[in-house]
Amino acid sequence: MLGNPLNSGDGGPLIDALPCGLLQLDAEDCVVRWNQCLQRWTGRSLESVQGRRLTEIYPDAPKLGRLLAETRASRQPRVLSQMFHHWLIPVPLPVGHISGFSEMQQECHLRLLAAPSDHLAITILDVTAGVVGQQRGRAMNRDLIAARDRAELSLRDLEEHEFALDQHAIVAVTDTRGTITYVNEKFCALSQYTREELIGRNHRVLNSGQHSKEFFCGMWATISRGEVWHGEVCNLAKDGGRYWVDTTVVPLGRREGKPAKYIAIRTDITARKRSEAVLALQARLLRQTQQSAQIGGWEYDCTTGRLHWTEEMFRLHELTPSNHEPTLENSVAFYAAGSVPIVSSAFQRALSRGEPWDLELSFITALGRNLWVRTTGEAEQVDGKTLRVFGSLQDITVRKNVEQVLTQAKAEAELGNRAKSAFLSTMSHEIRTPMNAVIGFSGLLLDTTLDVDQRSYVEALKESGEDLLRILNDILDYSDMESARIPLKTKALDTAALVAELANGYETKARERQLSLSVSIAPGTPPRLCADGPRLLQVLGNLVSNGIKFTERGGITVQVHGVDQSGRSHLRFTVTDTGIGIPRDRHAEIFQHFNQVDATNSRLYGGAGLGLAISKRLVELMGGQIGFESEFGRGSTFWFTLPLAPRGEAGAKELLPKSGAT
Ligand code: ADP
Repeated sequence: MLGNPLNSGDGGPLIDALPCGLLQLDAEDCVVRWNQCLQRWTGRSLESVQGRRLTEIYPDAPKLGRLLAETRASRQPRVLSQMFHHWLIPVPLPVGHISGFSEMQQECHLRLLAAPSDHLAITILDVTAGVVGQQRGRAMNRDLIAARDRAELSLRDLEEHEFALDQHAIVAVTDTRGTITYVNEKFCALSQYTREELIGRNHRVLNSGQHSKEFFCGMWATISRGEVWHGEVCNLAKDGGRYWVDTTVVPLGRREGKPAKYIAIRTDITARKRSEAVLALQARLLRQTQQSAQIGGWEYDCTTGRLHWTEEMFRLHELTPSNHEPTLENSVAFYAAGSVPIVSSAFQRALSRGEPWDLELSFITALGRNLWVRTTGEAEQVDGKTLRVFGSLQDITVRKNVEQVLTQAKAEAELGNRAKSAFLSTMSHEIRTPMNAVIGFSGLLLDTTLDVDQRSYVEALKESGEDLLRILNDILDYSDMESARIPLKTKALDTAALVAELANGYETKARERQLSLSVSIAPGTPPRLCADGPRLLQVLGNLVSNGIKFTERGGITVQVHGVDQSGRSHLRFTVTDTGIGIPRDRHAEIFQHFNQVDATNSRLYGGAGLGLAISKRLVELMGGQIGFESEFGRGSTFWFTLPLAPRGEAGAKELLPKSGAT
């Protein structure tokens, strides 16, 4: 059995240079090595003996088989003198190897090699001179001993080489039918089989099914011809796992022109194969992602001046790698005329200053289709020098078209909204004028002498007129707000006067509904504030009138006090009632327009559901915030804050209370 490719085949240069014969036999006594000296002495070429049993080459050699068997059994080196010339070199030396002597005297050393453990090394020394030339005997002997030592050294070298190979490689030997005759430790470790499990089995046991029949047929055809085969093979380990090996199969020991056995030297490349598989997967994913997102990638190498495109780049351009070689010049030409200078200068800035770009430009494909593309690019610089510029190209035509449609739809919607607001505003104005006349003349009528029934009819007429006017005013405000047409007239106001005016306006109404209305200003409240008085009163009035409207018993309390909010002084107004309250599930929508907690509200209490939406808008316009707390069945507290002075306006300080003032 062979152990190692280094110990098989012809001799290495070192061994061939030796002045002694050296042959190596495998476990079956077949010739593995037959050095040049031996070839010269015996007249037999390496090819004629390699792979053949020694006893078969020399069938008449007496006791040869026994001698070999004994050396193997004893494992001790042996030295034999003048023994082999009868069978090994039976003829006189052709040229006077040592002149004057017709026969060569030999000394033969047999030794079992440490590795491959069952190999036998035989060194044959020519001691003819030592026997016949007594006068030169000693010197000659020294030479011979030195030669033998060198031969043994060479063999040790080979053993070390074998050890090194075993450390590095996965080695196996098979016969010509693929039956495993040798495996090293590494082979066992990787395949997870023991040596005993493998020896004698066909190498097919490791077939993973990964490769086609043709793959292995090709390999067998190559090695059967005596040629070396190289490839990457996926094998099956004992536990069912797969491993990859980089494999070189060397045919050995030619017999009748055909290899006698094969040595396979392998390295484990499973990790590399896995990384390759991951990389291939990532590349495929990237390709698919680019394809589905319609994003192409490109890279320009500043050193070589070469431009590289991904597959998707070609697709976006409606080109193929076979019909187009991308260059900087022809790439720019695909942009629409107006876009060419933009993209060219962006590229130049990236090249010279490393500036990135991200542009949306119009583009024309090779087939003449107009597209919108998003082009991005950035430069990789080292020490201020640009090494490469790379980027992406994305088809954004669909998005651009949708954007255009949306912009147009928005413009149309705004136009329609403005028309609707203008119509509402006109109508409200038109209705307000006769409404004012109805209310005014009802008032005048009430100043005349009327009987009780007439008075009550006219009062109802006036009240309904006023309700209608309030709704009209709300609608007018709302349409103004929608078209953002509420100009604020800000001026300094007296807090106390403002609150008094509010109380005056709603006192009668509260009294009519037998509700109390109390108004208070907390001590320390700034006496003045800067705001739009009528709008502020409108908000307060809305909250108070809601309070009155939605309260059956109890009363309404209005309070004012100063607060600090986000580092600015504010006034906080609260309007509390003891009315019906608002259910928790309706809190979120209470400030939305046309919203009423209950549809029956409008029938019971009147109103269009606009008051709070308008109040919120006004408060926010004045730089404040609005909110409420309410408990269903127990009452509500609506509040809003206003800055003492609008942001950026001077005079906020002078509005602050002087010490001691209330
Ligand atoms: P409306 O003109 O209908 O009163 P608002 O916007 O002022 O419109 O109020 C919207 C709805 O909020 C009211 O219909 C009512 O259901 C509820 N609401 C407002 N204020 C109060 C309150 N103080 N108490 C109970 N419910 C209220």
